[in-house]
Amino acid sequence: MSQVRNPGARTLHPLTAVEQFQVYTERQLEQIPQLQRLPAELRRSMHAVAQVLPFRVNRYIVEELIDWDNIPDDPIFQLTFPQPGMLAPEDFERMAALLDAQVDPAQLRAVVQEIRQKLNPHPAGQRLLNVPRLDDKRLEGMQHKYRETVLFFPSQGQTCHAYCTFCFRWAQFIGDKELRIASHEATLLHRYLKQHHEVTDLLLTGGDPMVMKTRHLAAYLEPLLQPEFEHIQTLRIGTKALSFWPQRFVLDEDADDLLRLLERLVRKGKHVAVMAHYNHWRELDTPIAREAVRRLRDTGVVIRSQSPLVAHINDSAEVWARLWQTQVSLGIVPYYMFVERDTGARRYFEVPLVRAWEIYRAAIQQVSGVARTVRGPSMSAGPGKVEVQGVAEIGGEQVFVLRFIQGRNPDWVQRPFFARFDPQATWLDDLHPALGEKAFFFQAEYDAMQTRAAL
Ligand SMILES: *Cc1c(COP(=O)(O)O)cnc(C)c1O
Ligand code: SF4
Repeated sequence: MSQVRNPGARTLHPLTAVEQFQVYTERQLEQIPQLQRLPAELRRSMHAVAQVLPFRVNRYIVEELIDWDNIPDDPIFQLTFPQPGMLAPEDFERMAALLDAQVDPAQLRAVVQEIRQKLNPHPAGQRLLNVPRLDDKRLEGMQHKYRETVLFFPSQGQTCHAYCTFCFRWAQFIGDKELRIASHEATLLHRYLKQHHEVTDLLLTGGDPMVMKTRHLAAYLEPLLQPEFEHIQTLRIGTKALSFWPQRFVLDEDADDLLRLLERLVRKGKHVAVMAHYNHWRELDTPIAREAVRRLRDTGVVIRSQSPLVAHINDSAEVWARLWQTQVSLGIVPYYMFVERDTGARRYFEVPLVRAWEIYRAAIQQVSGVARTVRGPSMSAGPGKVEVQGVAEIGGEQVFVLRFIQGRNPDWVQRPFFARFDPQATWLDDLHPALGEKAFFFQAEYDAMQTRAAL
């Protein structure tokens, strides 16, 4: 087999057959041996969808995570491979017909563009409202939406070891510069943080920052040990590498350097949180996935987990309860359950809010208090992160009880508010004030913020 990149780790942990990272995109779809067993019609539909939405999978996922005897229902197959229902039927038919006719690339591109524009590539006003400024210049590649936390999108981390089919950042992966949020500027990040003492948390995100070489990560993180960054207490790294490429923490040639870097940050007094994206307990079932968790935890970082609730992958209370239980047994702290965002293939993945709440509730009832650290179901919407706390009846009216977990104005946080019950609603935009109110309590202020940002 392929060469061993981290021989020391290998002798200690003979964990897996897949050691070399090998990726498959739409162009290499036909080279995946397991796909040859699938009906031609299914492969045709994968090609059609993958023209519009990003597709990227790797050999570890194909060989060790997907159960090929359970296609198309296997949750990891649903998580990584394009499915026909992800496009509107008319768009799907159009794409498939263009591919069958082998039209020229320019013609194909034009239609692809048109369909993508219909899929709300930038949800929740990301382009306009959250971009911070330094010396009056917009800092692309950063978002500062909630007072305490700055999001940073390092340019070397704007891809992932594979792509989730439901990804809300899909627009960043399709090679369209217009849609791309990224920064290559560590210096600008550090200058901004120095000037903003209200910020306690830096969240590196992407894509997946763990696709970066350790030395690049170090360039962003290590300077924060200087005294002028004392206010930055928490360094968070959002990643799905623990599921999509756990070798990053075990076998990759700079795996050990990464662990040493994290250890240094922890020893020098930072809280380092790996915000791990897990959708299904199956992602935690391989020996290497568990070894990666163990090695990370040994450095003193805390692993917190978050995931959206999505149809076809994890829309069942049993899956969530088992996911949280598995995580707790491995020392991972369940953190957020998200509602699928209003972008990309949402038509295929979305779950009504009432159903999401029922699943959350039924799952949380099955686990002990140590797993009840998870909050949700939560919508990352324009005004903030809004949690569905439940359905109640107030004065004869059926309502959703909601609260902000995070708000564009910190004062909105933790105030209960109410929306008319709607069994079909899937997002905040579908909801209307209840109990005779004309508007939600935050609406006028939020509208004013948007008007100001547009000027
Ligand atoms: C979720 C989120 C954060 C982090 O919020 P916490 O509740 O502190 O985890 C920061 N910025 C943005 C834009 C977010 O969506
Ligand atoms: S890991 Fe995150 S950013 Fe990457 S494809 Fe999945 S959801 Fe998108």
